[in-house]
Amino acid sequence: LPAFDVAAVRADFPLLAESVQGMPLVYLDSAATSQKPRVVLDAERDFLERSNAAVHRGAHTLAAEATELYEDARAAVAGFVGAAPDDLVWTHGATEGLNLIAYAIGNATLGRGAPASARLALRPGDELAVTEAEHHANIVPWQELAARTGAILRVIRIRDDGSVDLDHAAEVIGSRTRVVAFTHVSNVLGIVNPVAEIVALAQGVGALTVLDACQSAPHLPLDLPGLGVDLAVFSGHKMQGPYGIGGLYGRREVLAALPPFLTGGSMITHVTFERTEFLPPPQRFEAGTQPVSQAIALAASVRYLEGLGMAAVHAHEQMLERRVREGLAGIDGVRLLGAADGAERVALQAFVVDGVHAHDVGQFLDARGVAVRVGHHCAEPVHARLGVTASVRASAALYNTIEDVDRMLEAVSGVRAYFGVDGAIAAGVRACD
Ligand code: PMP
Repeated sequence: LPAFDVAAVRADFPLLAESVQGMPLVYLDSAATSQKPRVVLDAERDFLERSNAAVHRGAHTLAAEATELYEDARAAVAGFVGAAPDDLVWTHGATEGLNLIAYAIGNATLGRGAPASARLALRPGDELAVTEAEHHANIVPWQELAARTGAILRVIRIRDDGSVDLDHAAEVIGSRTRVVAFTHVSNVLGIVNPVAEIVALAQGVGALTVLDACQSAPHLPLDLPGLGVDLAVFSGHKMQGPYGIGGLYGRREVLAALPPFLTGGSMITHVTFERTEFLPPPQRFEAGTQPVSQAIALAASVRYLEGLGMAAVHAHEQMLERRVREGLAGIDGVRLLGAADGAERVALQAFVVDGVHAHDVGQFLDARGVAVRVGHHCAEPVHARLGVTASVRASAALYNTIEDVDRMLEAVSGVRAYFGVDGAIAAGVRACD
């Protein structure tokens, strides 16, 4: 592996030099949004200062230059996830990507799109399957699609330790299943799901697979075609890139069969009042003026990550992951959510401190310069499944150090004493893990 110099990496991220409440910032909220290296900030600014123009249709030099930069960016980001440029659609983020897919399937159900779209159409009683550990962005669009089409939303259970119950997946995924939508890495549990096994079950019944790669793309070398999924989404802002840009990868035949979601300019070949013809993918899914500077800045971020080497990034983060989990597990009264032994994971761990509300833990940590997330992290069902209403989530990225983790652990160690929680009661609660 190439050497990974975390001090040099940190120096690339201006925000990490900030202090919070007079203390150096420990930023452990990268699963919500990551910090951005200077090359990303510069790429967006350089484009806007020197090359800004609307892409694709302009007759002028700047428009041609902007188009070239924009399409180069597509190739870079597609390459980062192992895909060909034409198989990557720009979206505004993962939420839009998942809605795009669900609405496109809804449109196929209404008889819209190319003849090939018919095979995506749903009939009442058809089933859509998600896991119990999904982000709301991978639940609600399917719930809405089910409501519009008469399809039924089925839920694949997770086990008490947070791992997907593959036996239950094999029961749920059956002849009526048309879509299996699941996360690569849960934004609460940090566990890397068994993609190959779930894809095999879905393929066995001819169901479409949709992967939410939001929490894997920033942390693992990713080969979406190699994973065998039909469609996948990710968000730029979680992978050291800008806000307002994301990717939707699709297998070529699947994208070709999907009707459009948003319609309007930039996605058509001809429009008359009687009839409109759509462009092929990826443009068919890119209606309206494009987020050009954001796409270019996202390309800068993936080039930055590739420069470091995703294998090296992953190895560094695995070290942080072990420290976070072992450290938290060793603190009295702390209960980890999804502590499956031996599971492959990213450096993201949600936990509860017995007797202290997650929001109080978050404030206590903030007062010590440690930024974590509290609440349900847009994943209420998995919290309900694990018997809690809220949790604290520490999530690391390539720029975090062991010292960051240790400052978080030290702060968490002081929580129960500060809030005067009775140790005997807490120990009893812990035995229920
Ligand atoms: N899925 C997962 C697993 C996530 O963590 C998030 C962001 N928290 C999303 C989807 C939605 O991403 P965005 O808000 O960028 O659209």
